[in-house]
Amino acid sequence: MGKDTLIKRLLELDRNLRYSVSCTTRPARPGEVDGVDYAFVSRERFQQLIDEGAFLEHATYNGNLYGTLTERVERERDAGHDVVLKIEVQGAEQVRAKAPDGVFIFVVPPSVDELVRRQVKRNTETSKDMTARRLIATREMEYASRYDHVVVNDELQRTVAEVLAIIHSARERDIQDKARSSQT
Ligand code: 5GP
Repeated sequence: MGKDTLIKRLLELDRNLRYSVSCTTRPARPGEVDGVDYAFVSRERFQQLIDEGAFLEHATYNGNLYGTLTERVERERDAGHDVVLKIEVQGAEQVRAKAPDGVFIFVVPPSVDELVRRQVKRNTETSKDMTARRLIATREMEYASRYDHVVVNDELQRTVAEVLAIIHSARERDIQDKARSSQT
């Protein structure tokens, strides 16, 4: 089970969470729905959004552009929701610079081999693509130590429980911090 399944379960179990649908120039995979899995946009449109300063973060992954729209995240935050971003490492660095109080969780597959097995099972990537993604995944592992938490995505129920516990304790800390600062 990949990150998508993990996030789906988190959203089902925690009603205060919202998923931030990213923009990408990657073509949609079979079964992916525009506006649900991603907002699929042309390179021209993506560049226009960059020029307008619309992105909270954006990055290139395996030749395609991916980005989080600031407006979407702010809208959810203003409504009192916590927002889940499913982003790669360069984007996470940008978000950390803008929102240092965010909770950064590095979700790793049990092994890179397992990641490749999942991709083969998904059967949507060409073998050239899979080789490239394997290389990126191996490089990304080096970033793990920069995250607040590292969670091994081995067994769905256990992984979901671990991530939920992290989110809940961060929320609790946030509430306590706010209470403290309102007393002073
Ligand atoms: P995929 O093509 O497999 O859907 O995603 C490729 C990589 O891009 C994954 O690591 C995914 O987490 C990341 N990604 C998806 N959306 C965004 C985004 O908005 N920003 C960044 N920086 N990475 C993203």
